[in-house]
Amino acid sequence: MTSPPPPRSRSSDAQSGSATLVALRGIDKTFANGTLALSGLDLDIRENEFVSLLGPSGCGKSTALRILAGLIPASRGDVAWTGGGSAEDHRGEIGFVFQEPTLMPWATVADNVFLPLRLRGVSRRDAADAIASSLDLVGLSRFAHAYPRELSGGMKMRVSIARALSLRPRILLMDEPFAALDEITRFKLNDDLLRLQREFGCTVVFVTHSVYESVYLSTRIVVMAARPGRIVAEIPVAAPTPRSEAFRTTPLYGTLCREASAALHEAMGPADDTDPAHADH
Ligand code: ADP
Ligand code: MG
Repeated sequence: MTSPPPPRSRSSDAQSGSATLVALRGIDKTFANGTLALSGLDLDIRENEFVSLLGPSGCGKSTALRILAGLIPASRGDVAWTGGGSAEDHRGEIGFVFQEPTLMPWATVADNVFLPLRLRGVSRRDAADAIASSLDLVGLSRFAHAYPRELSGGMKMRVSIARALSLRPRILLMDEPFAALDEITRFKLNDDLLRLQREFGCTVVFVTHSVYESVYLSTRIVVMAARPGRIVAEIPVAAPTPRSEAFRTTPLYGTLCREASAALHEAMGPADDTDPAHADH
C-alpha cells in the first residue's frame, strides 16, 4: 500500500509561471483508416497557465489532448516532459476530464473519486483525506455519500473533476467538460474551475469550441483549424486574474472575443461560414 501523494505547493511564483511543463513537438497523427488528424503540431504548455484549444469540430482538439495524456500514440513527433520521462512515467501527474462525467452509477460520490487512487493501490483509509479535500475543492463535501443518480448534470461534472484531482495532478486536461451543461451552470463551473486552479495550483489545458468560454478562462488561446488539424493562431489573454463575472462586461473581454472569433472564422475557412453546425454558443 502506498499513501496518497501530498498536496502540491501553492506557489504562484512568476518564474514557475513561465517554465515549460510539457511540449508537443512536431506531432502528426494518422488514424488506421488513413485520416490525417494532426499535422506538425508544436505546442509548449507552461507551468500554471490555462491554455484553451479552440477550434471547430474535427480539427483534432481531442486527439491532441489524448496524445498529451499518453492515451494514444502520435504517428510522428514527441511529447517532451521537462526533466524527461514518457507519458507513462507522468501518468500520476495528469488528470483527465471527459465531456461526459463517466461516473460509476453503483458507487457513491466518494467511491467514484476514490477510483484513481484505488487503481494505484492506495487503501480507502489512506485515501480518505485526498477524497475529502478533492470534494471540498469542488464544493461537494455534503454529497460524499450520494449516488450519481441523485445529482444534477453540473454536480456530476464536479464529481468528475474531483476524481481527476484526487491524484493531485500537475496538469489537468479537460475535453469540452461543460459543453453539455446549460449556460448558468456552465458559467458557475467556469468560476469554480478558476478558483480551484488558483487554490490547487495546477496547469490546465482546456478544449472548447466556445470563444466566450476560452476568453473568460484562459491565459492563452490556441486556435486550431481542420484538414489537417493544426495550430493557426495563438492569442494571449492579458487580462488580470482572478477573473469574475465583471470581466465579461469589460471592453478588453469584448476585444478579445472579437479577436478569437475572427481567428476561429479564419480557421474555419470561407466554406464553413454559413454552416450552423459550427456556430458558437
Ligand atoms: P475535435 O476534438 O477537434 O472535434 P478529433 O480530435 O475528435 O477532433 O478528431 C480529429 C479528426 O480525426 C476528425 O476528422 C475525426 O473524425 C478523426 N478521428 C478521431 N478519432 C478517430 C479514430 N479513432 N479513428 C479515425 N478517425 C478519427
Ligand atoms: Mg473533441
